[in-house]
Amino acid sequence: MKITGIDIGKLRVPLHTPFKTALRTVEHMEDVVVILNTDTGHRGYGSAPATAVITGETHGSIIEAIRTVILPAIKGEDVQNLNHIVDLIQASMFKNYSAKAAIEVAVYDLFAQSLNTPLYEVLGGGEPFLSTDLTISVDYIDKMVEDAVDAVDRGFEALKIKVGKDLRLDIERVKAIYAAVSDRALIRLDANQGWTSKQTVAALRELESSGVELEFIEQPVRGDDLEGMKYVTERVSTPVMADESTFGPKEVIELIQMRGADIINIKLMKTGGISNAIKIADIAAVFDVKCMMGCMLETSIGVSAAAHVAVAKAHSITRVDLDSPSLGTINPVVGGVKFDGAEITIANVPGLGIESISELSMMSFEKAAAC
Ligand code: MG
Repeated sequence: MKITGIDIGKLRVPLHTPFKTALRTVEHMEDVVVILNTDTGHRGYGSAPATAVITGETHGSIIEAIRTVILPAIKGEDVQNLNHIVDLIQASMFKNYSAKAAIEVAVYDLFAQSLNTPLYEVLGGGEPFLSTDLTISVDYIDKMVEDAVDAVDRGFEALKIKVGKDLRLDIERVKAIYAAVSDRALIRLDANQGWTSKQTVAALRELESSGVELEFIEQPVRGDDLEGMKYVTERVSTPVMADESTFGPKEVIELIQMRGADIINIKLMKTGGISNAIKIADIAAVFDVKCMMGCMLETSIGVSAAAHVAVAKAHSITRVDLDSPSLGTINPVVGGVKFDGAEITIANVPGLGIESISELSMMSFEKAAAC
């Protein structure tokens, strides 16, 4: 099974409600979708959203990186040589992690298809069921409480509360949500780099002393402020999770060794795909650190791949934050992984199991350029 070329398209899905964090507000998700073609007729699927404020990538940069650098590096390769192809992808260019992730996911999909086995089984197997949390966007307190109660009523047992806009108000937001739903759900906070280290310690001490027990606080300070992460981790009893502070395996080792976080948030779009996500899960296990599998605001193609990895590495990835597909008004991807509220179920079909994608607008020039 040799890689012969690529089709590239764009997939846009409107959101039920605007997604608001300390960094941005968006009303739809939009992915670059890649379909790797082979000489056997098998097609491998991958995708990447543009998250410029996190990875520095745009749809334009992702498409150009794939078309002019990454695809030429692997075109003609036999899918059986998975590790070699992964090395070629990772060495093809500096950074551009989401572009690399889209292609890696498609290659892993093909590799698992070539073995006629679901991807998670190829990665080591596991129970093909996951339970995800749901993100509650930053908003007025009443609206956030209403969203939280609604989520718990819909069966979510963990809620990820976005804060980081205004410290005093954030504390009130968390207390109000905690009072409303903490008997029925775990509460996670994601400050999306919105606080300073001293603000974080003050906020958490106040929350802790008022009886609010959080499952963790995610990325309270700027991603590049590793000293700030360490400062917070040392001073609060709430576990601290690193998101934007870690991308690849090397950064995870450094962060764990400097005790800059208690938990690692793995996202394929930060790691450059599945191979590094696996390494991070294994590294964390060596240090007895747990991970969460997260995703960007993205459609269910990349999130399906993340679900397969989370199942296979469940000993290390003990938390799942893969709610993005359920935030959309439709799921245009047919087959493979089923996203139904809090429940994620992986079907017993080869690879990622994607049968078709509706609403996909193909970019004809990409195909011409790749041939
Ligand atoms: Mg985060």
